[in-house]
Amino acid sequence: MIVMRIEPCPTVIVTRFAPSPTGLLHLGHAYAAMRARDAGERFLLRLEDIDTARCRPEYEAAILEDMEWLGLAFERPVLRQSSRSGAYREALAALQARGLLYPCFCTRKDVAEEIARSAEAPHGPDGPVYPGLCRSLSAAARVRRMADGEPYALRLDAAKAAQQAGNLVFEEEGAGPDGETGSIAVQPSLFGDVVLARKEMPAAYHLAVVVDDAFQGVTLVTRGNDLFAASHVQRLLQALLGLSTPAYAHHRLILDERGRKFSKRDRAVTLRALRESGVTPNEIRARLCR
Ligand code: GLU
Repeated sequence: MIVMRIEPCPTVIVTRFAPSPTGLLHLGHAYAAMRARDAGERFLLRLEDIDTARCRPEYEAAILEDMEWLGLAFERPVLRQSSRSGAYREALAALQARGLLYPCFCTRKDVAEEIARSAEAPHGPDGPVYPGLCRSLSAAARVRRMADGEPYALRLDAAKAAQQAGNLVFEEEGAGPDGETGSIAVQPSLFGDVVLARKEMPAAYHLAVVVDDAFQGVTLVTRGNDLFAASHVQRLLQALLGLSTPAYAHHRLILDERGRKFSKRDRAVTLRALRESGVTPNEIRARLCR
């Protein structure tokens, strides 16, 4: 009898570049896109256009044009977060069903005043974390304020979420002992009770990213070091929602001569301006990979 050996399916590395069409792409984006393209056997593009007030169709068109010019071929169709509200709603409902969300009625001013009052406001990577004012509102107060039409955001109860999820790690390229991929222990409360949705925004960044990375089958998230800390809360959300977990490869940021991050306002380093001044994609690659 011939016994067939079943080989496990080799995992295809799927990466993505996920810009927001809120301005023209610059050298920092080109580097991120190249890193993602180079690391992926399949390479996807996702337009993070959920903040409709800031996104513009002309910037979206410019992204596609720049990607083509750089020679970074991505698979179609392009995923737009603006088309994914239903998926985000389902994810929020799943977290709600686990008792992990609460409505927060605080204005920025309420939060700032409370932080100023408390001597030891806990700090996260983006500054002081939400002091939890609305976490302990009674169910009746929540219902009344919502019925009164007070605007609110939905926040994750991070302590409760951490308890439900248990110990977690995420896999980071280069974090192992010999520069291999290594496990990083998740700090679930690093950003405190993060906002996951607002009235005018069906999902905040962390929620949209994990739902879409899983939907697109992304196996390796490559992105700048400035988003390293975000992986803690994103891994937590993946666990709570039963989503697949990609590995991560955070890379250095491309900085200007003064050592600052490029901003979308720096017209001179936009890919469009560089292209118009005669710079070639090969020169850009050479400059970025120095
Ligand atoms: N949209 C984010 C940005 O433009 C990137 C999101 C991610 O890679 O997780 O910075």
